Amino acid sequence: MVMGNTAECKVAIIGAGPYGLAASAFLSKAGIEARIFGEPMSFWEHMPRGMCLRSSWSASSIGDPAQEFNLDAFCRENGNHCPKPIPLDRFVAYGHWFQNRVAPQVDRRMVHNIEANGKGFILSLSDAQTLTARRVVVAAGINTFARRPREFDGIPATLATHSSEHRNFDRFKGQSVAVIGAGQSALESAALCREAGVEVEVIARTPQLNWVGLHPRLHHLGFISRMLYSDRDVGPAGISRLVAAPHVFRRFPRKFQDRTAYRAIRPAVAGWLAPRLTDMNISLGRHVVSAAAAGSELRLKLDDGSERLVDHALLATGYQVDISRYGFLSQELATRIKTVGGFPVLRRGFESSVPGLHFLGKPAARSFGPILGFVSGTDFAGIELVRTLKRSQ
Ligand SMILES: Cc1cc2nc3c(=O)[nH]c(=O)nc-3n(C[C@H](O)[C@H](O)[C@H](O)COP(=O)(O)OP(=O)(O)OC[C@H]3O[C@@H](n4cnc5c(N)ncnc54)[C@H](O)[C@@H]3O)c2cc1C
Repeated sequence: MVMGNTAECKVAIIGAGPYGLAASAFLSKAGIEARIFGEPMSFWEHMPRGMCLRSSWSASSIGDPAQEFNLDAFCRENGNHCPKPIPLDRFVAYGHWFQNRVAPQVDRRMVHNIEANGKGFILSLSDAQTLTARRVVVAAGINTFARRPREFDGIPATLATHSSEHRNFDRFKGQSVAVIGAGQSALESAALCREAGVEVEVIARTPQLNWVGLHPRLHHLGFISRMLYSDRDVGPAGISRLVAAPHVFRRFPRKFQDRTAYRAIRPAVAGWLAPRLTDMNISLGRHVVSAAAAGSELRLKLDDGSERLVDHALLATGYQVDISRYGFLSQELATRIKTVGGFPVLRRGFESSVPGLHFLGKPAARSFGPILGFVSGTDFAGIELVRTLKRSQ
């Protein structure tokens, strides 16, 4: 509905990645009017070309109420060509296919500002138009939360960049790059760099690499496998089952939740990457204590006293949720949201301490557990959101 210059809607969804799209699918099926904003799948479109998903097939479908638009349906409609692990470009194509079916009307404008107006929220869009919404669902992802270790403060982008800044590594061809980190992003970036003709060393704090999926037989033991692993595929045996039930998981004592969540999402590498890492130069149990520009190069000092002189450091150092870094939340609104360690504290329906303001995806992981950081949590998010919004209508 449009009144004067300001349009109105019941629910505004910010972000058209997996969580925003799933929310749109569930709300629309429930007959709740919602508008969705943002460039569909843009976070994934900026990931490095040639990358594959770490999550398994069963854990990579975006949720919709009737599971009509899962990866199997996408493949059936597109000639049944379904490589595993899932290549990034295939997943991005799937995301667009999903969006065309559940939210063809997505509004590609960015939301620049949200403030509360007593009855709901006023959103300012990238073309300076405004919109009022009774509720806002923030599904804006983690891109804003890229974590850069303090040691790299002040180092220019020519010498150190976060892994999220790269679509490919061709610019480093013939150069030396230190990849910092021990997770999938670090090791896959290292493999892609080496394949692009880069001299690579991985430097990781962990004493050993953690692998996932090295024992596929464990997933084919029928009843026993089902007892140990959930299809959501987050975490090792046992923990996988526990975190797949967010309403149960969130009843456990906080300390237990934190420890279990860490165990579920600690840096780990998919087994299928192992052959591409053969003879990779990897320094484990080491971390950078200082970084300094040395002419056109970067000098890194490690905790064992050794030094490296490299052309570039690639910081595959993950993401640290801190919703105060969502620039679209007005300062007044941001200060009213109760947070712990940067995460919003959420009740049923992902609602924050500001009534009508909801958060999906990784920011919801402290309240609902680690699956909210992955595509496999999208159906839970959609169901839970609709249940709460229906009750409050
Ligand atoms: C390298 C890498 C590999 C990964 N691999 C996997 C994997 O294999 N499997 C898996 O399940 N997860 C994986 N993840 C985690 C992944 O981030 C989440 O699963 C997924 O992106 C969550 O979806 P989302 O909708 O919350 O966020 P996103 O996909 O980031 O979508 C958020 C969207 O919001 C938009 N947006 C942000 N701000 C605004 C605004 N102001 N206005 C309008 N739109 C806005 C963004 O443009 C973006 O499109 C990976 C993450 C990384 C970094």
